[in-house]
Amino acid sequence: MNKSIKQEILQKIKDNQIICLFRHVRNDGDCVGATKGLKRILQLTFPEKQIYLIDHDTAKYLEFMGPEDPEVEDIVYENALGIVLDTASEARISNKKYTLCKDLIKIDHHIPLENYGSVAWVEEERSSCCEMVVDFYETFKDELKIDSEAATHLYTGMVTDSGRFKYSGISGDAMRCAGTLLDVGVDTDTLFARLYLEAYEYLKFKAHIYNRMQITENGVAYIFVDKAMQEEFGLTLEMASACVGNLDSIRGVIAWMAFIENGDAEGSIRVRLRSRFVHINSIAEKYRGGGHACASGATVYGQEEMDALLRDTDALVKEYKETHEGWL
Ligand code: AMP
Repeated sequence: MNKSIKQEILQKIKDNQIICLFRHVRNDGDCVGATKGLKRILQLTFPEKQIYLIDHDTAKYLEFMGPEDPEVEDIVYENALGIVLDTASEARISNKKYTLCKDLIKIDHHIPLENYGSVAWVEEERSSCCEMVVDFYETFKDELKIDSEAATHLYTGMVTDSGRFKYSGISGDAMRCAGTLLDVGVDTDTLFARLYLEAYEYLKFKAHIYNRMQITENGVAYIFVDKAMQEEFGLTLEMASACVGNLDSIRGVIAWMAFIENGDAEGSIRVRLRSRFVHINSIAEKYRGGGHACASGATVYGQEEMDALLRDTDALVKEYKETHEGWL
């Protein structure tokens, strides 16, 4: 699929001596895995090229994936081909120096809010951007080189963005890509331990979440993790945000979300929306966000907007349940 776009991307990579890789803000396993995985593939294949991955935000739970490169002079960006992975819109690119690059490519699996760059390779049905990088490798595997370091980065993104291969985006192609990585070599025991073991204190927070969560009339589960709760359990924003995953297994609840108070002067609240069967990205887009059909992010300000977003989601779920069968 999209062979000619991939060929165009490979040609641009071959034609450039300097390549800068970019990802989205508020990093996650997929954008880090995709950039680091592609960087390693390109380094192995083209050892004479300069390849940089420079970003300014990191997530503690992904520190095991290793550091990124130190900042470079603007002249380096100016002579570089930029490749932005896993990022739907320019506003979400984490290192703003991407604007200096002489050429830009977008590789992404989000519903496109806008396209940017001279080449945009977007496949919404892909379970992760890492899957796209593996597909790119598979397409040109006679020319490209991979090793277990690259495979582990890419597998990390595939696992985290698909809920351990559980979400509906998982296809035969995704599993074949995962199979390619396992054939190269991934220590899955260590990887899963790094990603999913939890601290004792965090389990106490989880218990609190289950006590405090609420459900709307038509079955939307939600939790508001305000600053007080974050302080009570000693949570970073990142740890607080992870709790959305704890609401995902309630029978009859086909949409769920966590509101995380950011603690900034504007009173912004991060919303993490998730669903099965029903698509919730339109709700996220209405409230300054976007994302995927069943996993999106948004931002609201104050109780009234939280209530409005909940009412909109509840109405969406009501309509879905009235017009569809087979949901659980
Ligand atoms: P989150 O709950 O923040 O992890 O977001 C879920 C998915 O939606 C991720 O793939 C994000 O990259 C994407 N996403 C979150 N916020 C936005 C936004 N403002 N615009 C577009 N995509 C977003």
